[in-house]
Amino acid sequence: MSYCPVCKIRSDYEYDIALSNGEYLHYSCVLLLQMRKHEIETALRSQKSQFILSLFAPTEVEQQDVAAKTEIEDLRAKFAKVESILSEIYDYLPCWPPDWDERKQEIISENGSICSYCEEEEDVYLLHDIPVFEGGTNALDNLTLICAECYRNMYHEGDIFGTATLKPSQSEFLKEFSAIQSAIESSQKIQFNYKKPSDKRWKTRVVRPERLFNIPNNRESGETLCVEGFCELRGDTRVFALERMQALEVIED
Ligand SMILES: [Zn+2]
Ligand SMILES: [Zn+2]
Repeated sequence: MSYCPVCKIRSDYEYDIALSNGEYLHYSCVLLLQMRKHEIETALRSQKSQFILSLFAPTEVEQQDVAAKTEIEDLRAKFAKVESILSEIYDYLPCWPPDWDERKQEIISENGSICSYCEEEEDVYLLHDIPVFEGGTNALDNLTLICAECYRNMYHEGDIFGTATLKPSQSEFLKEFSAIQSAIESSQKIQFNYKKPSDKRWKTRVVRPERLFNIPNNRESGETLCVEGFCELRGDTRVFALERMQALEVIED
């Protein structure tokens, strides 16, 4: 039997979130906490601006609207509490947590933007030491910064990011995946229509594919299936997400 870590009421595993520490969390409990955090944030912001206004333009502000400093302190304490409960839950979420970017910033502000493999100062990605699907947590001690170069090298060594096999959750890309794989093996090019989120129109790309791989994302799917190859339009190596392709075909040289 399991009890929700937030409300301590019995949780029913069928409808709850299975955390990686074995607990079951009510979905409604985490939503309520997130709403509470947002509420306090909003209150804190308006109290702060009232307080500042009262310092510089005391006549503009009704005295009773001005929160005493202690009220702001009080809100800050509440905020810290909600945030720490949420962050503990996020540690054990079975996916990339909503505060992934904050976690990355926290590690960077402590250790610098330094790759933990080559120890160079670089643009870095955040990754799990032990992957979530193998029971790893999102706690800071299971997170590592890595640069693009090391990320690629590790992939080629055979690897912690998944191989170029299609995962069951990616079966919708089966057709594209096998077409690209055969193009890689026979050194043929592929042609497809592609639209980045920032693009207004579809563009036709001709690419000589080199490898298929997964990039971690923050969405439910956890990973985005991508192909890397030489793009004739850009005259350079580029990465393309299979989910943004249309009308893919293998073409003759
Ligand atoms: Zn609950
Ligand atoms: Zn590196």
